[in-house]
Amino acid sequence: MIFNAPSGSSGLAQSLQDVVRAAAAGAPRSRQRRIGPSSVGHPCGRRVAYEAAGVEPVNSGGDPWPSIIGTAGHDWLARAFRAHNAALGRERWLVERRVRITDTLTGTGDLYDTDTATLIDHKILGADSLKAIKRDGPGDQYRVQVQLYGYGLAREGISVERVALACYPRSGWLSGLHVWSEPYDPAVAEDALARLSGLGALARLLDLDAHPERWALLPDAPAATCTWCPAWRPGSGPADAHGCPGALAA
Ligand code: SF4
Repeated sequence: MIFNAPSGSSGLAQSLQDVVRAAAAGAPRSRQRRIGPSSVGHPCGRRVAYEAAGVEPVNSGGDPWPSIIGTAGHDWLARAFRAHNAALGRERWLVERRVRITDTLTGTGDLYDTDTATLIDHKILGADSLKAIKRDGPGDQYRVQVQLYGYGLAREGISVERVALACYPRSGWLSGLHVWSEPYDPAVAEDALARLSGLGALARLLDLDAHPERWALLPDAPAATCTWCPAWRPGSGPADAHGCPGALAA
């Protein structure tokens, strides 16, 4: 049967989107409430503090499609590298290895290449983000993330020489893959962990449970992109225990 009546097509489109959105809302990443390595290096200290405190997100992040494509792409890549291990008859690639960075901070390293001692994180990026990384490098958030994974592996006694981001275009061709890499540097991870711990200490000092209005005193980052922040509550009052109006509004 062909759906060609406008109302039927738009009704079907709505039904399909509803199913996809409901599935995305129930996905493990959407339910994650503990800060992970991907957020620790975000330039906005207030956002890091919200995530470290496990505050319920008020910003759904908008359209879930990029994240669905990202998750599906990661699953496919994991199968591909496991299959390559099987073809080699040895475990060249450690795939989706759980890493313990500290006693309270854990994560999953996408890939580790035992031949080159390189920790690799896959990113499946839109055109603008890919262009920005090619032009300016990855920025603190991604850089800290891969260095933290490297730190976690090194804690286990695994040799880490380099960390890398494998940036695949979300639309386009595999030939558009861009790899950024630098030497593993534990000082980057240690600085980020010290900042995280300092933000925790500041939050306790401010006694945020008793004084939720003091969330506004936590340092933001004027240049931060608030759009993807789970605490972003545009058009609201000052930052409090539930959300933040954004860097420019604060
Ligand atoms: S909305 Fe913007 S300023 Fe507020 S916590 Fe999030 S990233 Fe920081």
